[in-house]
Amino acid sequence: MDKNFQEEFTQIIKFNPPLYKQRHQFVKDLVEKYKPKKVADLGCADCSLLRMLKFCRCIEVLAGLDICADVMKEKMHTLSPLPVDYLQPSERSLTVTLHHGSVAHKDPCMLGFDLVTCIELIEHLEEPELKKFPEVVFGFMAPSIVVISTPNSEFNPLLPGVMLYRHPDHKFEWNQAQFQSWALETARCYDYSVEFTGVGQPPTGMEKAGFCTQIGVFVRKYPQTGESVQSEKHTEAVYKTVFKAVYPSLKDEKYLRNAVISEVIFTAQIIKHRLMSKHEEYGDDPERKSKFQPSMDFSFSDYLGKVVVEKNMEPFISGNEVHIPLATIFSFPKVNRLCGTFEKLCKLIAGKVTLSSDGSAVMFNIEHENEEN
Ligand code: SAH
Repeated sequence: MDKNFQEEFTQIIKFNPPLYKQRHQFVKDLVEKYKPKKVADLGCADCSLLRMLKFCRCIEVLAGLDICADVMKEKMHTLSPLPVDYLQPSERSLTVTLHHGSVAHKDPCMLGFDLVTCIELIEHLEEPELKKFPEVVFGFMAPSIVVISTPNSEFNPLLPGVMLYRHPDHKFEWNQAQFQSWALETARCYDYSVEFTGVGQPPTGMEKAGFCTQIGVFVRKYPQTGESVQSEKHTEAVYKTVFKAVYPSLKDEKYLRNAVISEVIFTAQIIKHRLMSKHEEYGDDPERKSKFQPSMDFSFSDYLGKVVVEKNMEPFISGNEVHIPLATIFSFPKVNRLCGTFEKLCKLIAGKVTLSSDGSAVMFNIEHENEEN
C-alpha cells in the first residue's frame, strides 16, 4: 500500500453511523428478515445489542451471555420493563435473561435458540476457548442462524493509531482469508452454509482492503428436531443467571383480563354517551322518551369506523338504567381482537363489570347523572 495514500486516509476515516451501530443495525436487519423468536447474544458486554433487539416485535426470548458479570450488570437495569409496559402490555410475550459464563462451556439454558449473535467476540477468545467455541455454538446450541463478526486486519492500516490490534484485549485479528477459511471449515464440520459480508466500507480505491468489520452469516442446513434438542438436555447447568425480566403481556391472562375490562368499560361509556345525547334530543316528552330506540344510523363510526349494529344488539334506556348489549361491545374491533370469542369476553369480565340479570348487557345507572343535570 502506498504510504502517502494510506496516511491520507488514516486522517479521514470516520464511520457514520459509528461502526458498532452499523454492526447492531446489521443484526436488526437480519432479525427483521428471518423473524427469529429466540435470540441469544454471546459476549453481550453492556447489553447494548439486547437493548435494541427488545423492540423487535417477533422476539419472545432474549438471552445474553458474557464472561464478565460486572460489564453486564452496569446497565442491565435498562432491560427491565418500563411503567408504560405495565400500562399497555404488549400482545407478544418477552423474557430477557442474562447469564454469566463462557462460550467455551455448554449449558442447557442456551438450547432452542433460532438466532445466535457473536458480535466482536471471537477475537477476545484464548486459543483453547476458540477451539471449543464451534462445538458449543454450532454443535450444541445449533441454532438456525449464527452471525459472527470480527475485525478485518487488512483494514487496520487505514485506521488511525492502530499498531498491532484494535483493542488491547484482542488475542488475534484475522485477515479475510483467515476468517473465511476458519468459517468455511466450521460450517462444513457442523453442516451449515456460510456467506460473507461486512460493515464499514473501505474508501474508494482501497476496495481490496475489504470491510472494516467482517461478518459471516451461517445458516443451518438440516432441520432441528425436538429429539436433537432433547438429547442434549442432560448437560449440566454451569452458567449463573444474573438477571431475568418477564415483560407484562396480553398472553398472560392477568394482564389480558385488565385490558379487556378497561376496553369494555371505555367502549360502553362511549356508547352510553352517544345514546344519552340522542335521548336528550327528544326533549321532555316522557312518552317519546320512554319509547326511544336508537336508529340504525346510531353507529359509532366516528369512534371506530363502521360497526354494524343489528336490531337485537341495540343499546337502550329503561327508567334509570342504560343497557348496552355485550354483543355490541364485542363487535368493536379492539374488544374483538383482544378476546377472540364472545365466550372469552364473558369469561374475562365475569364479576368485574355490572351486567344485566341475564348477563347479556353492561348496565349503567344514570339516576345520579340525571340529578346533576
Ligand atoms: N458484543 C459486544 C461487545 C463485544 S466485546 C458488542 O457488540 O458491542 C467482547 C465481549 O466478549 C466482552 O464483553 C467480553 O467480556 C466477552 N467475552 C470474552 N471472552 C468470553 C467468553 N469466553 N465467553 C463469553 N464472553 C466472553
